[in-house]
Amino acid sequence: MTAVHVPGTPIVSEGRLVSTSPATGTEVGRLPVSAEADVARVVDRAREAAGWWAGLGFAGRRGRLLRWRGVLARRIEELAELMHAEGGKPVPDAIVEVLTAIEHIDWAARNAGRVLGPRRVRSRLVLAEFSGHLEYQPYGVVGVIGPWNYPIFTPVGSSAYALAAGNTVVLKPSEYTPVVGQWLVDSLAEVVPEQPVFTAVHGLGDVGAALCRSGVDKLAFTGSTVTAKKVMAACAETLTPVLLEAGGKDAMIVDSDADLDAAAEACVWGGLTNAGQTCIGIERVYAVEPVFDAFVGKVVERASRLTVGADGADIGPITMPGQLDVIRRHIDDALARGGQAVLGGTDAVQPPYVRPTILVDVPEDSLAVREETFGPTLTINRVRDADEAVARANALPYGLGGSVFGRRRAVAIARRLRSGMAAVNSTLTFAGMSTLPFGGVGESGFGRIHGEDGLREFGRPKAITRRRARSLLPATTFERTPADVARLVKVTKLLYGRRR
Ligand code: NDP
Repeated sequence: MTAVHVPGTPIVSEGRLVSTSPATGTEVGRLPVSAEADVARVVDRAREAAGWWAGLGFAGRRGRLLRWRGVLARRIEELAELMHAEGGKPVPDAIVEVLTAIEHIDWAARNAGRVLGPRRVRSRLVLAEFSGHLEYQPYGVVGVIGPWNYPIFTPVGSSAYALAAGNTVVLKPSEYTPVVGQWLVDSLAEVVPEQPVFTAVHGLGDVGAALCRSGVDKLAFTGSTVTAKKVMAACAETLTPVLLEAGGKDAMIVDSDADLDAAAEACVWGGLTNAGQTCIGIERVYAVEPVFDAFVGKVVERASRLTVGADGADIGPITMPGQLDVIRRHIDDALARGGQAVLGGTDAVQPPYVRPTILVDVPEDSLAVREETFGPTLTINRVRDADEAVARANALPYGLGGSVFGRRRAVAIARRLRSGMAAVNSTLTFAGMSTLPFGGVGESGFGRIHGEDGLREFGRPKAITRRRARSLLPATTFERTPADVARLVKVTKLLYGRRR
């Protein structure tokens, strides 16, 4: 009996990874699978190229990265169509994703020199005879492992910042979106043909594992928490530093003074865009009692208008066929525990699609509240007040993003969320703001991409002190006299000994 191919499931055939559309099963492309020795060779080549790339300096890299940005901008429709074909993502969503990635390339290229370049730092009274100098030097080769759900935004979030900092990058795209990953790498090679500064290796999870062990100087991972732990364990063997962007279960809080129409609109988009397959997607909503019913009504009204299908629809197919079972299980479990489906429900799962599903009054110990669903579903639970909403939002080990709708207390509530990011009166917007760092806490990982912190993530701080005068109070020499030490004691008490 021959196995039936489930559309979207990658196949390895004759040493090639065959990528297919999750909607139609049509082949989108095939790429050679990298053996462990191939990964090592690609990393070696990237290391040779790293010297040349670092030697270009910030200005040289800036010009090239801005030209890369230009290629992506000019070919944005072509790339969005490819993302649609390979991952099933609606073209408008793909356009927004590429636009966001372009903005990050632009900012990283323009700001790397300012943030990472050599600078003087102030010295203090102690060691005033020395000047301080700081710069962030590139690691060398950065390995980037990416997921399928945002196959341009996530690898660019690491790669553009790593490249701008002077590293070369070896990317392992998800086996579900290797063709898009290769397109991205090829687009940079168009404007930087001299050396392989951005290359890709392809295959299944074992190729990612080989990249972790390949001797890269830093590993930037984006994917599930389960895999993040494996990556960290593999990298621990060689003390390779890691950046982990892992899963989430982001909450939205709707306070009593929120604009309910705006909240409902943002909730539907933040929860259901990309068919809910978004790490920072809204999965749980806590609305305070006085506005709960009105808010739910507005969400249902909007979500029921969304179209589902292959082409031109608001919600495309579930990219990873295996996820359909997870989504179904979460819906079934929520209903079995007493939750109610006010839109959709178990029947909403019709492979490869899932219709929008809104579940209310779902017990907090349900799978749909506690675990990443990664489908176009939302739980909306009623809470007494904002304090209870914050307590529930913070009750999970994840802590990636979040959203708050309200007026008077909204910013204060956002600050109390145990998460790396939060959006007030919008959803997901922090991901597109290149000046802000992106990353999570707890099981959502650690380290940051984007913004100044995202640039520093890809540079080793190098601290230099330089003598500029003779020491009046010699401390760090065997030549010091007992009188010098007595003076040191006196100065220490004078400088730091005050009681207040
Ligand atoms: P996975 O963890 O399954 O895979 C992520 C990447 O890791 C893939 O390229 C995968 O390769 C690779 N991989 C698999 N096994 C190993 C291994 N042992 N060692 C090294 N690499 C390995 O995640 P998904 O691709 O399913 O992506 C969805 C997840 O990503 C969700 O949890 C989502 O929340 C999270 N995510 C987090 C983001 C963030 O910024 N925090 C952003 C976007 C998504 P292969 O595909 O071939 O198995």
